[in-house]
Amino acid sequence: MGGKLRDRVVIVVGAGSVGPGWGNGKAAAVLFAREGAKVLAVDIDADAAEETAGIVAGEGGIAETFVADVSRADRVDAMVEACLDRFGRIDVLHNNVGIVAPKPTVEVDDAEWDRIAAVNLKSMFLTCRAVLPAMERNEYRVDAEGRRIGRGAIVNISSVSGIRWTGVPYVTYSVTKGAVLPLTRSIALEYAEKGIRANAILPGLMNTPMIVEPLKEAYGGGDVGRMVEARDAQCPTGYMGDGWDVAHAALFLASDDARYVTGAELVVDGGISAKLV
Ligand code: NAP
Repeated sequence: MGGKLRDRVVIVVGAGSVGPGWGNGKAAAVLFAREGAKVLAVDIDADAAEETAGIVAGEGGIAETFVADVSRADRVDAMVEACLDRFGRIDVLHNNVGIVAPKPTVEVDDAEWDRIAAVNLKSMFLTCRAVLPAMERNEYRVDAEGRRIGRGAIVNISSVSGIRWTGVPYVTYSVTKGAVLPLTRSIALEYAEKGIRANAILPGLMNTPMIVEPLKEAYGGGDVGRMVEARDAQCPTGYMGDGWDVAHAALFLASDDARYVTGAELVVDGGISAKLV
């Protein structure tokens, strides 16, 4: 166990995993706890949240669960209340929820546009809006050199598909993930003087359970193995990243190692967004 987040209270939104293995949110929740954080594992799926909290507890860490659809303001407000009731404070918000539905633009109906915008973008606004007042009530901390450092950190999970075409049409995903960036930047600048940081991570093509069902058709003609091969081949490294790559970047941004980092867009993509073709 490390101590980069000792005594910090972290809300991980989307802390479960859609399938077996390690998603980005599950890996982040477990890594944060390994670094000393008390974690509120929030998910729409109670079993998925319990699974993550169980892993943390099994390793000797502290995690509780809360079930919420974070596209709903009343559930987000209840999540913040629950965190304050159980742990007394909120130091870090890790916003991991995101859903993808590949489809040509003209086939996206109004309901789907609204649903994906609510889950991918509105949820991030709602959770930030709800935690910021609690973070503002935190005291400043002082580092080893006597410098006053932050009262809170927000990490929002965007995607390289918010800034680049990634090979399949999913306008709802690209647009909402792209919009996470100005949301994050706005909060970073509004709160820089108040000691609260906000940063975004842009994962590239990652091999996580969430890609299997929605993307196997578009990338692999329905075959999961072919999808993995196709996505691996797209990456300059020759292979996709995984949930731990995102989790380690999130740990950096959540911790005091990043005390002077705010409004940043951290690409975790094995170089794919730097590539011309
Ligand atoms: P995941 O396995 O789908 O886990 C996310 C969890 O969030 C799931 O348990 C899911 O529950 C839950 N969730 C979905 N909608 C919710 C809602 N409205 N309220 C509360 N919880 C909700 O995905 P992951 O691997 O942890 O990572 C997902 C994030 O990484 C997304 O933001 C995604 O856009 C981003 N990302 C992934 C990649 C990639 O290639 N894997 C690339 C770039 C960015 P259900 O299973 O019930 O839906």
